[in-house]
Amino acid sequence: STPSEKDLRSPICCILGHVDTGKTKLLDKIRQTNVQGGEAGGITQQIGATYFPIDAVKTKTKSMAQFEKQIFDVPGLLVIDTPGHESFSNLRSRGSSLCNIAILVIDIMHGLEQQTMESIRLLRDRKAPFVVALNKIDRLYDWEPTPNDAFRSTFQKQGRGVKQEFATRLEAIKVALAEQGLNSELYFENKNLAKYVSIVPTSAVTGEGIPDLLWLLLELTQKRMSKQLMYLSHVAATILEVKVVEGFGTTIDVILSNGYLREGDRIVLCGLNGPIVTTIRALLTPQPLRELRLKSEYVHNKEVKAALGVKVAANDLEKAVSGSRLLVVGPDDDEEEMMDDVMDDLTGLLDSVDTSGRGVVVQASTLGSLEALLDFLKDMKIPVMSIGLGPVYKRDVMKATAMLDKAKELAVMLCFDVKIDREAEHYAEEQGVKIFNADIIYHLFDAFTAYQEKLLE
Ligand code: GDP
Ligand code: MG
Repeated sequence: STPSEKDLRSPICCILGHVDTGKTKLLDKIRQTNVQGGEAGGITQQIGATYFPIDAVKTKTKSMAQFEKQIFDVPGLLVIDTPGHESFSNLRSRGSSLCNIAILVIDIMHGLEQQTMESIRLLRDRKAPFVVALNKIDRLYDWEPTPNDAFRSTFQKQGRGVKQEFATRLEAIKVALAEQGLNSELYFENKNLAKYVSIVPTSAVTGEGIPDLLWLLLELTQKRMSKQLMYLSHVAATILEVKVVEGFGTTIDVILSNGYLREGDRIVLCGLNGPIVTTIRALLTPQPLRELRLKSEYVHNKEVKAALGVKVAANDLEKAVSGSRLLVVGPDDDEEEMMDDVMDDLTGLLDSVDTSGRGVVVQASTLGSLEALLDFLKDMKIPVMSIGLGPVYKRDVMKATAMLDKAKELAVMLCFDVKIDREAEHYAEEQGVKIFNADIIYHLFDAFTAYQEKLLE
């Protein structure tokens, strides 16, 4: 192969949607390898992601050959393992998305739900291309499953009643999507990929439609991802999680979406108390399964290449912020400038803060979730007085007490997936500041509006 071909990188895929639509189950099913046939095909578990080399995708999409032409230009597909808003919104770079394609899962029996709308908003804000997996088709009355079959092939074998119920439900969901401003079409009837969202009927239980889904992900990324994006160039990386690991101290789990990372690289990232500059001590990937008898859980890499998930060990990572970018200092780079740059990710969000000093206090676990929450509150016209990251302490609650006299219904902390310090909790209770903590945005919103209504009664 030519050198440029070797430099193609894999697209990155995320999955999101309402709770219980089958996101986890779909991921499990996609990851499942044909063990009997010995066709693991090199699917590898990475840090926070699963990597499908192109050969594995070929095997899993064989049943599509009778319906569609197939292109296999990219080296593989990287699927992020944690479903939901959280990982999607953390895969960000200055408001745009590092996720090249997303799967929005909708339960065919339930249609559009609250988090479906939130997901649509996120996808739209970040301009991320996506497909809809219309999941649980096996629950249509009288469905006759053919495990792992391509949708058209299994559908054609269904009875009239099933076909009718499918058509009715599909139509209702298309109408509901249109109400959200989205034109949609069954993917094999979609003649305008730029304007219409493609719908893939799936079952995460029987595996039906999974070949279609994988085929479509490759088709869309290869046809619609700009060539620029597909080639390895500058480094683009985001921190998904900050974790303490025995023997390594505090580490960061990073999705490297472009370029290379090397042991000894000097890196710059956003920290809770200011920019962090440190040096990569180790680049860790999980030990392949068959090697588990070896002592260490991790393989040390001198160098890793996008796209992949990797654990980075370095000093001073304790205050690293999830969802922040990771920059590598090159020979000609100005380190000071880069330090400002990474902190901009956080300070940029301060624009959402109401300068009149009136509003609620918002605290989130990651930059991505903070951003998503702020976007949501803006849409709901809820003013925000102050923002923060990480656990809630007394000093954070103190900010909210400022509203007690001005507008009691706003003397509130809206917290997304964070720990609340015991002392902070007591203090809030004492002062009459209400703390809401949830890991689903609309739950926070519902609890907050119910509280406001009660106060105003
Ligand atoms: P998540 O909250 O979106 O991750 O949903 P889960 O993957 O945890 O699935 C929620 C429930 O729906 C579980 O009981 C799954 O077994 C079930 N489920 C998921 N996908 C399907 C499907 O395609 N068909 C059927 N019948 N059940 C499904
Ligand atoms: Mg789940």
